[in-house]
Amino acid sequence: MFKKILIANRGEIALRVIRACKEMGILSVAVHSTADADAMHVRMADESVCIGPPPGTDSYLSIPSIVSACEITGAEAIHPGYGFLSENAAFVQVLEDHGITFIGPSSEHIRMMGDKITAKETMLKLGVPCVPGSEGGVPTVQDARRIAADMGYPVIIKATAGGGGRGMKLARRPEELDMAFSSARSEAKAAFGNDAVYIEKYLQRPRHIEIQIFGDGKGRAVHLGERDCSLQRRHQKVFEESPSPAIDGETRARIGKVCADAVGAMGYSGAGTIEFLYEDGEFYFIEMNTRLQVEHPVTEAVYGVDLVREQIRVAAGEEMSLRQEDLIPNGHAIECRINAEKLPEFRPSPGRVTAFHAPGGLGVRMDSALYQGYSIPPYYDSLIGKLIVHGSDRTAALARLRRALGELIVDGVETTTPLFHALLDEPDIQSGNYTIHWLEKWLEAHS
Ligand code: ADP
Repeated sequence: MFKKILIANRGEIALRVIRACKEMGILSVAVHSTADADAMHVRMADESVCIGPPPGTDSYLSIPSIVSACEITGAEAIHPGYGFLSENAAFVQVLEDHGITFIGPSSEHIRMMGDKITAKETMLKLGVPCVPGSEGGVPTVQDARRIAADMGYPVIIKATAGGGGRGMKLARRPEELDMAFSSARSEAKAAFGNDAVYIEKYLQRPRHIEIQIFGDGKGRAVHLGERDCSLQRRHQKVFEESPSPAIDGETRARIGKVCADAVGAMGYSGAGTIEFLYEDGEFYFIEMNTRLQVEHPVTEAVYGVDLVREQIRVAAGEEMSLRQEDLIPNGHAIECRINAEKLPEFRPSPGRVTAFHAPGGLGVRMDSALYQGYSIPPYYDSLIGKLIVHGSDRTAALARLRRALGELIVDGVETTTPLFHALLDEPDIQSGNYTIHWLEKWLEAHS
């Protein structure tokens, strides 16, 4: 087992990894920008190294600084968390060249899934159902027009390098296609330096259902059921739950097996998520994330596993301890992403936290790097905490969520907590009757 791990991240996910390290008797190294010198992850780790100025590009995304921090401190492995360098194949390649273990899949698998066109081609070959669309990239607007006309409108133009909901444009009618095509391209070029795009049929009322998988890198893989992440704003998840109100045990077992078999055949190592849109009883693959996800705690709650511990164990060459026959879901879990944002515009609201109280009690988990007196810097993501509740069933989990939200205190900055209070009053949320468009429509009606 490793003696020392460096965590190439910040915020709640850095804490999540440091906590797993502590429980495993592994020393942890935090890295931080100058803006994060007082951050909780720096305080909680055994050692810390400053890796640059505030902007992420000069610190948390600086591969030379992070590799140097590893060499200075003698860390043998790096956990990337999510975001930043977690899906950067070039970074993993550099680590492989330096003899530093990356806690995650191989650079080859990251590269393959990081390009969505290649990812879809790979998944199709492995028997995973995909959203109908163009075969590969669509180089010109003439091609786009022809493909969209054959497929039928509405269509969605997507960047092969896309992420975070960027580089995605909807064309409801032929008149909208040229504009959608060129703006998807230019947005993709600006955000990812790659303007390759492809076309998919735009599904009208799907749910976003994703399957958590875990592979041992030697051909064995398991699934840990689904998460329903349909409640989204601007293609970004806001509220996640497991199990999905729309999925029964038989469906879960069937799609779970398709996913586990696919990643097993790839020889995939570590945690990953296969994302689908689900409509009229059919699954359509959209992308695979080759990392731990923000919403992993709902799966941990329902399956009673520690995904980060398992990631570290498998990266260190130990046998994967998960066995499909032992993975039986128990109860229901829900996560709310609490952002430092002012409603109703969701405008970032950084600043000093004058009071902080995390909810507690049975079935409540709050993953947050906040503390009283902490100043939330303006440079990074606005996620300040994840509130996760677990109950014996969905009704119990919803009641627990309402109770826990009532205990949460964050003073000094605006947060998105009121949104969740309001959502809990909605009959559709109470019954689980929502699609990926539900929240956008609700926000429009309530703005
Ligand atoms: P990103 O990598 O930017 O997150 P995804 O491909 O995962 O992009 O899609 C994010 C979200 O965008 C989905 O959860 C869904 O809400 C919406 N979306 C993507 N593809 C389609 C599609 N073909 N039809 C309808 N909605 C889609």
